[in-house]
Amino acid sequence: MQKKKYRLETELVHAGEPDKRIEGAVSLPIFQSSTFEYSGQSDYHDLKYIRLNNTPNHTALHKKLSVLEKGDAALVTASGMAAISAALLAFLKPGDHLLAQDCLYGGTHELITKDLAVLGISCDLVQGDSVKAWEEKYRPETKLIYAESISNPLLQIPDLKGLAAFAKKHGLISMIDNTFAGPVNYRPLETGFDICLHSCTKYLNGHSDIVAGAAIGSEKLIGKIIHKLNHLGGSLDPHACFLLHRGIKTLALRMRCQNANALQLAGFLENHNAVEKVYYPGLKNHTGHERAKELFAGFGGMLSFEIKGGPEKAEKVISRLQIPISAPSLGGVESLITRPVTTSHSGMSPQEREKAGIKDSLIRVSVGIEAAEDLIADFQQALDI
Ligand SMILES: *Cc1c(COP(=O)(O)O)cnc(C)c1O
Repeated sequence: MQKKKYRLETELVHAGEPDKRIEGAVSLPIFQSSTFEYSGQSDYHDLKYIRLNNTPNHTALHKKLSVLEKGDAALVTASGMAAISAALLAFLKPGDHLLAQDCLYGGTHELITKDLAVLGISCDLVQGDSVKAWEEKYRPETKLIYAESISNPLLQIPDLKGLAAFAKKHGLISMIDNTFAGPVNYRPLETGFDICLHSCTKYLNGHSDIVAGAAIGSEKLIGKIIHKLNHLGGSLDPHACFLLHRGIKTLALRMRCQNANALQLAGFLENHNAVEKVYYPGLKNHTGHERAKELFAGFGGMLSFEIKGGPEKAEKVISRLQIPISAPSLGGVESLITRPVTTSHSGMSPQEREKAGIKDSLIRVSVGIEAAEDLIADFQQALDI
């Protein structure tokens, strides 16, 4: 019998759960067993073993993630970077070339420009907004394109439809890191991207207590990534699988609250005279606003703003805030605040940051699920100095 298709909120809770509950357990138990009884498998990758990503905790998560991102198959990994590195290495070989967006997550930027370069894989970094620029850098050796649905820390949104179409036109594999938007707000496979990647450390788990990653796409492409990860070894431990599985069930609730809180806080900051500029896709003056309105169900929980008075003033405001915790990372239930120049973007030179438009006085907020009124009152007292 064909299974009924439910809305995302329902799928978050029920997709991938065992058809027959194990011993009647409502919550999928943790299978803390490295190996499982041999049952006649002829292929190495089918042996049941934690590193081969096929214990009951893995399979349930794979099903849940593929339903959420509208893919046929999924893979969970030991970190976001494990998903990204395994995915890239599954499809690139020496001599190949890739095109990537110019403002990538720091770890991905280093992996592509340094580690892949050592393997003889070259790249060009291109502005996400202009498909024409990607066309200009395209070569016969180009195999793959790589983008992020919302960039860090200025929350820019590339020409998503244009990039997916560009990849299709040239027969390239298209990969997109959907960590900042998340599947409640945006599902890149529906725009035509081949592989959607996540740092599940962030919104999908949502509680700042594990590192994990994921790749979602077709059976064929994900199958290749699984075989690569089986050899690289970055598999997710069953206990972390359990925590991620539990976290995902409340993703829609958390994300809606974070969308609403961030929109309110962005509006408040935009009207505060100590603030120079606010970057949030939900604001009409943001470069990605129209695109987000067209493709996203919500504008997300991340925002950043420049403060008048330079980095000293920025540090002062951060230290005066009572609710947001000063820490890198994002996507948890608690609000986090950071100055990208000192954390996520400290690896860039001042010239590179200048080029990317990242000012020393920029503050980034991962808005949590606290009461919006409390968050706004806290920012008010911290800014009124
Ligand atoms: C955090 C992050 C990653 C890396 O994820 P880890 O789980 O820390 O390995 C990749 N991409 C983006 C956009 C991120 O925010």
